[in-house]
Amino acid sequence: MSRVGVIGAGGAGLCAAKHLLAAGLQPQVWEATSGLGGTWRHSTRTGTDLYGLPIFSSMYNNLRTNLPKEVMAFPDFPFPSEDDTSFVHHTTVSNYLNRYATHFNLLPHIKTEHHVQKVAPLPNNSGSGNTAAGLLPRWAITVRDLKQQITTTDVYDAVVVCNGHYSKPSIPSLPGVEEYQGRQIHSHDYREPKPFTGQTVLVLGAGASGIDIAIELCSTAKQVYLSHNQKNNIASDLPKNLHQVKGASEATRDGFILTDATRVQADVIIYCTGYEYTFSFLCESCGVGVSRGQVTPLYRHIHNVLLPSMAFIGIPVQICPFPFFDTQVRYVTKVLTGKVSLPSPKDMEAITQQEFLQHMKEGHAPEDFHLMSSSQWEYMRELTDAAGEEPLPSVIKTLFTDVRKVRNNNLLTYKQNKYRFTGPETYEVVQ
Ligand code: FAD
Repeated sequence: MSRVGVIGAGGAGLCAAKHLLAAGLQPQVWEATSGLGGTWRHSTRTGTDLYGLPIFSSMYNNLRTNLPKEVMAFPDFPFPSEDDTSFVHHTTVSNYLNRYATHFNLLPHIKTEHHVQKVAPLPNNSGSGNTAAGLLPRWAITVRDLKQQITTTDVYDAVVVCNGHYSKPSIPSLPGVEEYQGRQIHSHDYREPKPFTGQTVLVLGAGASGIDIAIELCSTAKQVYLSHNQKNNIASDLPKNLHQVKGASEATRDGFILTDATRVQADVIIYCTGYEYTFSFLCESCGVGVSRGQVTPLYRHIHNVLLPSMAFIGIPVQICPFPFFDTQVRYVTKVLTGKVSLPSPKDMEAITQQEFLQHMKEGHAPEDFHLMSSSQWEYMRELTDAAGEEPLPSVIKTLFTDVRKVRNNNLLTYKQNKYRFTGPETYEVVQ
């Protein structure tokens, strides 16, 4: 039986453990924090944890999901029906993931407070016995037991990387920022609006977090500038003290100069400027790099082209996370059990290169190679087809797509809506 190392016990790692176990493989999950759920495991603390590691979760106290729980759920494990809201508080998601782990008996396979420190490929002629479906190489994985303060290295047949990518802040360096006398934080460290009472706050970036945090801040802040360079202004009603302005291009002593040369004063800047992929535990010999927001070289955004017994779950962005992870994991499980063959490394490289060229030809930026949005459904369909697996019920795509439209035009009210699936293709709005 193949031993598979799984790094991280967030949604992706738990899903990997579930499907690998069901297929008769032996997963060993390591989780650096003291519990399950990854980013859904909220921490009031910022900075570093008990062991000096950076706080992992980016959840803020009042966060409610921006997707209804009906589409967020793994396809084989709905959220409990007793919570009759659709856009649930983050604690509901954390409880859900813990229930998922208990329900599928994953706990004996998970070691919390175990930090993966090094992953290195072994030479192809090392060891004997079954590899994962003949895939090579095997892996030496070095793990620190944080509580016992013991570091051990063991050999695994495959490795599935599920370490998330919403934890290491990406912060642009604004010219003149060293002169700025106000407070600067990244959304990773934002927890609640109270400390900003009466202040003028510039929220830089109007992605999902930027918009959500800017709206929440309006309850206490004097005024909030939502500073962004998106082509169109947000079309929805917004709080009266929220002003959409151009992106900040420069900092001054007491504020910012925007790209249209306007000046704004601000007591605080909150960078809602996203996160970086980071794989500090991967040795150079793994051959994986991050450049311009792209993790390379990955076949189908999953398998390391050079060393295909290494897979990554959840690299793409703008996806429907848990159903997406489930689809990727079912594919990887088929690969690791030998039911699906990967092309040769040379062919995987050529296919991936071709996909990237096509992406560029369509006028997209290189750093958006993992950005899926509406193409995620075709991508998932290709994976389930390739794996001979059931596709996702089409109602997930339908509701996901409909909710996005409603959200864009009704940012202040969309979370009041309640939805219920009425079949694999249909849903209803519950009154
Ligand atoms: P994570 O949840 O990030 O988990 C990764 C795990 O790996 C962590 O537990 C971490 O401790 C562990 N780890 C990392 N490195 C190591 C190591 N070296 N050794 C051991 N363990 C390690 N999705 C939705 O569907 N709906 C939403 O409304 C939504 N809102 C969001 C709001 C915010 C603020 C953020 C940040 C994300 C949101 N998401 C939402 C997306 C969310 O990231 C995904 O739903 C999903 O939880 C990601 O799961 P993951 O397992 O890939 O990563």
